[in-house]
Amino acid sequence: MIRYHAAWILPIAEPAIRNGWIAVDHGRIAAYGSPGPAGARGFDDGAREVDLGDVVVLPGLCNAHTHLELSYLHDEVPPASEFVTWIRGVIAARRTRPDPSGTEILDAVERAVGESTRCGTAIVGDISNTLVTFEPLARSALAGVVFYELIRFNAADPVAVVAHAQRQLDELEPTARVRASLAAHAPYSVAPLVLRAIRRAVDREPFLPCSIHLSESVEEVEFIRSGNGPWRALLEELGSWDPAWVPPGGSPVDFLDEAGFLGNRVIAVHGVQMTDSDLEKLAARGTTLVTCPRSNGHTGAGAPPLAEFYASGVRIAVGTDSLASAPDLNVFAELATMRALAPRVPAASLLESATIEGARALGFDADYGTIEPGKQARLIAVTLPSSNIDVEEYLLGGIEPSQIRWIGDND
Ligand SMILES: [Zn+2]
Repeated sequence: MIRYHAAWILPIAEPAIRNGWIAVDHGRIAAYGSPGPAGARGFDDGAREVDLGDVVVLPGLCNAHTHLELSYLHDEVPPASEFVTWIRGVIAARRTRPDPSGTEILDAVERAVGESTRCGTAIVGDISNTLVTFEPLARSALAGVVFYELIRFNAADPVAVVAHAQRQLDELEPTARVRASLAAHAPYSVAPLVLRAIRRAVDREPFLPCSIHLSESVEEVEFIRSGNGPWRALLEELGSWDPAWVPPGGSPVDFLDEAGFLGNRVIAVHGVQMTDSDLEKLAARGTTLVTCPRSNGHTGAGAPPLAEFYASGVRIAVGTDSLASAPDLNVFAELATMRALAPRVPAASLLESATIEGARALGFDADYGTIEPGKQARLIAVTLPSSNIDVEEYLLGGIEPSQIRWIGDND
């Protein structure tokens, strides 16, 4: 057993502890606490005592939404002022950077996995259209879910599309840390019957999450309401338009709710254009909303209404989105942007979003997301400028990988 002493311990499940300690045994958290009457050195259990100094120890973070397989497009898609313009940029970048052997894509995935770990991330919700990220993730120290994302607006046989995807998932060998599930790209790019088949397939498993991009852009809202606008034009251009499709009217959230898609297994990503009534529906269904504000700025989706998100009672998690739309995979940098956008949301709520809320949404809260006895000791120690600070607020100010060190894992 090893006992770490630190200027601060941040269990997440309770407020930060000054001059705390945390005992780790065989890679699991055994106990933690404050110095107590006997002082920090008052133990007599033979544990090795390690003083980490001016650091805060907290659980590894959760990046609840990223696309590791798009890492090779880093800096390849210019920022846009309108979302559909950005999507056109992604399509163009993929065409001008064909990678038939997949080497460039896989190399970038490896680098992205390494970068995630250096940034203090323990868990990822990874969206993949090809499943090439499953094996690198299974080999890595990261835990997470690889979501096999389907994009199919015009499907002749929706059930067969999903059954085929499910067979590919069944061929993967899940590990203790990495699982695979299905995701729908978005309400404007996946046919209603495909959405239904995806939910049915996911519901057959004991607990598997399902993901969808939702209410990201004004173009999406317009398309679901009226069936028109720039998104309709793009679908037609791509030859993906379905003339039999009838616009559902209402908001994208209304549409998914009426389709029976929402629920506590569903992770809805972005929500930039959600209204208060949309947020109420998500809260009532137990759906987790993942916010990726830096990506929203890059893609022209706009700034997410974070204060409204937190006031609504919806569970909120944090994602960086892909390197095609974010400068890095640092969840701490995402938190700094969230703090700038929502100066009055309690620091503890933002930190919960980056830890336990993401872990819970992905089905990893039994082992990750808080410091509690029995959980995995996937812990990070973040260097502080001094021990005499508001440590939660400091963690929202932008933490660099050079300040982060992993502890506990092999003890
Ligand atoms: Zn995404």
